[in-house]
Amino acid sequence: MSNDLKWSGPARPSAPTKSARRPKRFSTFELKRVGVAVLDESNVQLQCIACHQVWSPNILSGGKLHRGYWKCPNGCNSPKGKF
Ligand SMILES: [Zn+2]
Repeated sequence: MSNDLKWSGPARPSAPTKSARRPKRFSTFELKRVGVAVLDESNVQLQCIACHQVWSPNILSGGKLHRGYWKCPNGCNSPKGKF
């Protein structure tokens, strides 16, 4: 009788939002889970899988990476409300 098909939009790529855990270490595996690819491990170059933005996070003294170093500058993989 009626065309009741609902179009809920294009399938979204699996966005790592609420279930994404913060990678504590510089790990290719962990970064991949949050939508980040490692371009260059030695120079710490990261690339957003969603928008292909490349960035180099600052490395703190002691070789530590600051919180949120894995977040895309464009905010692709940032959970809402948190920074
Ligand atoms: Zn991005």
